[in-house]
Amino acid sequence: MPQVKRDYYEVLGVEKTASQDEIKKAFRTAAKEFHPDKNPGDKASEDKFKEAAEAYEVLQDPEKRARYDQFGHEGLKGTSMPQYSSFEEIFESFGDIFGGGIFEGLFGGGGRRRGPRRGSSLKVEIVLEFLEAAKGTKKTIELRRAERCTDCEGSGAKPGSKPKTCDLCGGRGEVIQSSGFFQVRTACPKCGGAGSFVDEPCSACSGRGRIPRKRDIEVQIPPGVDDGTRVRISGEGEPGDPGAPPGDLFCYIAVKPHAFFERHESDVLLELPITFSQAALGGSIEVPTLDGKRDLEIKSGTQSGDVLKIRGAGIADPHGYRKGDQLIRVTVAVPPKLTKKQEELLREFAKTEDANISPIRKSFFEKVKSFFEKM
Ligand SMILES: [Zn+2]
Ligand SMILES: [Zn+2]
Repeated sequence: MPQVKRDYYEVLGVEKTASQDEIKKAFRTAAKEFHPDKNPGDKASEDKFKEAAEAYEVLQDPEKRARYDQFGHEGLKGTSMPQYSSFEEIFESFGDIFGGGIFEGLFGGGGRRRGPRRGSSLKVEIVLEFLEAAKGTKKTIELRRAERCTDCEGSGAKPGSKPKTCDLCGGRGEVIQSSGFFQVRTACPKCGGAGSFVDEPCSACSGRGRIPRKRDIEVQIPPGVDDGTRVRISGEGEPGDPGAPPGDLFCYIAVKPHAFFERHESDVLLELPITFSQAALGGSIEVPTLDGKRDLEIKSGTQSGDVLKIRGAGIADPHGYRKGDQLIRVTVAVPPKLTKKQEELLREFAKTEDANISPIRKSFFEKVKSFFEKM
């Protein structure tokens, strides 16, 4: 198999909007081109054939296709994706399209795969505060989802009764029709592919086998999740057909910005204003970190824009790598106002610098006075 999975639409060479017919046609073309009989012993063709089969497997199934469109390859993890190891398996799997002969069914088309379907997956957004995301948290989310009806165990049949096996297809869910030379398998028109019927529907769920419910689900958020992270909670999606597993719940994490912490991968950046004398003389200063206050040593001669570091005070990596650091970018703040004493001292200091500075400001009344004198 290819290392990086290609886009399924690209594999089959169809548009994202392609109809089921177009997809089938595209797969038929690919299957012909890379068919093992035509390319005996050619590993590249075999891989291409498998790739096309997998793309077709997903795109011909409306549910899987919808998940793929929404989530990409990720969205199919946990679904019943076949892992083909031989052509025989592919032909077995696509028996309903390939029909008796290799390509016969392809021309006639039709047919859906039988078997209980896995439940659909659900998607929710969870908004976290910056610190919740950095340190991990537990969240209870309210979810509306279909759940299996407990009265009928999901069968849809009134308790005490049982679904009846479809007489047209004998419970197989598909029928074989002959058209010309071809044998075509299609979904059974009587039971719609389910293989069975419900005569007396369950009153609790009106025969649907499932009931919408509100549920509170507790979600454990690992430390270090970032904006856009997806957390999968296995089995908390909608129920599958009886005998099939439920879908998953995908939580998409959104993280609110913090008032003064800023995340850079696993590092946390803090902008810290310090005074001129702290920068020039050095000293110890208290800084906020994710875990509370810490003393930070500032060296004498620190420049505005210098970045200091507290190792290991950053964000945990959800994959278990080393924790990030806290970075502190200092800015030297100029006081907007000086007391008289401060101004005097600073002017004394300035004399030693040999720099041009403004003369001592006149008081407002002195300025007004000199203004009138000049008139
Ligand atoms: Zn029911
Ligand atoms: Zn039937």
